[in-house]
Formats: sequence, C-alpha cells, structure tokens
Amino acid sequence: IFQEIPLAPPDVIFNLTATYKADTFAQKVNLGVGAYRDDAGKPWILPVVKKAEQAIVNDSSIDHEYLPILGLAPFREASIRLILGADNSAIKENRVIAAQTISGTGANHLGGLFLSRFYSKKVPFYVSNPTWANHKPIFNNVGFETKDYAYFNPKNNGLDIDGLLADLKSAPEGSIILLHACAHNPTGVDPTKDQWKAIADVIESKKHFPFFDCAYQGFASGDLDRDAWAVRYFVERGFELLVCQSYAKNFGLYGQRAGCLTFVLRNADAAARVSSQLAKLQRSEISNPPLHGVRIVSKVLNDPNLYAEWTENLKTMSGRISNMRKALYDKLIQYKTPGTWEHIINQIGMFSFTGLKASQVKVLKEKYHIYLTDNGRISMAGISTSNVEYFADAVNYVVRN
Ligand code: PMP
Repeated sequence: IFQEIPLAPPDVIFNLTATYKADTFAQKVNLGVGAYRDDAGKPWILPVVKKAEQAIVNDSSIDHEYLPILGLAPFREASIRLILGADNSAIKENRVIAAQTISGTGANHLGGLFLSRFYSKKVPFYVSNPTWANHKPIFNNVGFETKDYAYFNPKNNGLDIDGLLADLKSAPEGSIILLHACAHNPTGVDPTKDQWKAIADVIESKKHFPFFDCAYQGFASGDLDRDAWAVRYFVERGFELLVCQSYAKNFGLYGQRAGCLTFVLRNADAAARVSSQLAKLQRSEISNPPLHGVRIVSKVLNDPNLYAEWTENLKTMSGRISNMRKALYDKLIQYKTPGTWEHIINQIGMFSFTGLKASQVKVLKEKYHIYLTDNGRISMAGISTSNVEYFADAVNYVVRN
C-alpha cells in the first residue's frame, strides 16, 4: 500500500547529532544541539531537579493514576503565575486559563489546533524569518498557511525592525503573529523594550492576534521576570493572547515533555469556554498529559525554598553561556578576525547567529570536525573553556580563507 509514498528527508538537527556521534576525531565539537551542556560538555541535571525528584520518588502517597485532561492543576496554576507574574490582574479577574502540554512543541501544536478550529478569521500564520525549524511544520499541519515577517538583518547581525514593522502593517487584518518571548531561536536577537512597544502598536492597530512562544524563560538572561517582560507588557496593554511555555531548557527536563499553553482572555466567561474546548481537543489528541516531569516542575515552582534554589541553577546555566560568549568574542578580537563580532556578546540565550556562510560551515565540518547548521547558527551551550580556543581558531581560519 505504501510503496509509492515519497521518502521524507531526515531532520537536519537530529541528523547533525548522529553524524557528530559517528565521528571518531578526538577534538570534535557539537554546536548543533539545542540542549545545555556543562563546561565538561556533559548534560547537566539541575541540583534542584534532583532534589525534587528524590522527594517525589520517596513519597509513598503518590501513585501513577491518570492526570485530568488539562493536566496537573498546581502545575498549571504555577505556570500561569510564572509567565504573567503572581500579582497580574488578569489572574485575579479569572480570565486566564491553561492546559498542560507535551512540552513547548505540544503547546504550539495545541494552540495552533485551537486557533484552526475557533479563530474565525481566515488569515495567514506569520512567523519570523528565520524561526525555530519546527514552527512552520506545526502550523501547516493544523491547516494554516504560514508566511514570514522580516526579522534578522544579516548586515549587522541584528533586528530588522523596519522590515518587521512594515510586514506586520501589510499583513491582512487579524493575522496571527508568532512572537518569540525571549532568546529568539535561531538568531539570539531580541527586540528592545521600545521595539516591543512599536510591535505592540502595529499588532493593536491591525487587530492581529499575538501568539507567544516562550521556550527559554530564566534560561535566557538568568532573570525570570526580565525574560517574561514582553508577554506581561502585551497583557498589560489589554491584548487577548496565548503563550506556550516549555520546561525543557529552564529545568533541563528535555525528555520529560513538560509544557503549558496559557490563554489570556477578555473575561471569565470566554476563559471558561476556551478551557472547555481545549479539554475536548486534548482528549482526542493525547487523552491526558504525562505526569512525572510536571510533578518535578510543580514541586519546585510551589515551594519557596526550591524556587529560590532553581533561580540559582538558572544563573549557573545562563552565566556559563554568557561567559562563553565573552570568551569567544575575546579570542576573535585577539586574532583580529576580519568582520565585526559584537553580535556574539549582544545576542542572548542558547543560540548565536554567527554570520558564517554555508561554505564556511562546510569547512568547519570537514576540516575541523565542528558541527553546526548550514545557516551559521551555533549553540553556545556546546562551547566550553576547553574548546573555545579551538573553535575560535577554526572560525579565524574559515573567515580568512
Ligand atoms: N519553541 C522554540 C522557539 C524552541 O526553541 C523550542 C525548543 N527547541 C521549542 C519551542 C520546543 O521545545 P520542546 O518541545 O522541547 O519544549
């Protein structure tokens, strides 16, 4: 029956990791993977996660029964407080609801699916150019036409704010606009507060719908409030919106698939209606969400001592990444590598758009066994004190040759 179906290409990122693993060269470097590594290049289990998990395992009162369709209530409530701020008036007005999802990907999917059913305007789904490689497939899968809005300016490796605003202005009224809440993937370039205000102005005047994706809260700057600023600003301005949260990066719970989809609505009545329909969609999709990861997240978010410890763990991760940005920048400056490199230290989060071209990436791979995507994106988490010099040497070589 299936002999005629076309062979799908392998996923670029997962394929890159497989090639890296098969490489036997001792100094090989993997800068493709979007997961935190410690300075020894190893996955890092957050100490607070270990502690919370141990307490859960030792708790004889827990069982492995099904969760409710919308997920673990204390987890959902804490997720809402985390992204909006505990004293957000929208919470007090009972116009915020949330569904537990299969990590950030599942939140994007459920949010897209919900809009494909209940958003009455037939409009395109706008994503930044470039964006996370999975955004378009997710929204196409639920029936949306996706379109790009300008984002990255390769001339200065920064934000093309004029192009961005022009594209949002010319988009059909009521379009859905995907916004990266912080630590834009793949560029590491975020709008400034003033730029966010200008973006909000256009979204408001064109009656667009803001769809926030927040995969790096606390991981980006080490400051949970700062990384949630844009979302909170939009809520304060009175937008109805949704926001996807992932706990993959900020808790290091990649494989546990802990995530949340939150809606901020006009009033409590709309909130109850949306929540009921989300439950109906979730039931037919996954019946009910997974338990273990969100138990850990919920324990940490709802316990002031563990929460405080978590914020320290976040600083360890974001601090190491920003040290590596600085170390890489310093080396390139020391080598007088042609070009400007300020963007390495100005960009934020796990990824950096280096500005390296596909032909240079090829040499990095073939001559130096350094693995990164063809668009020149590097995961800063793959850089350590022991390989930063090797990487800088290699960049210096490919830029000069
Ligand atoms: N959105 C963005 C922008 C991301 O970078 C990621 C992680 N790569 C996700 C969503 C979702 O990741 P996960 O499903 O692992 O939470």
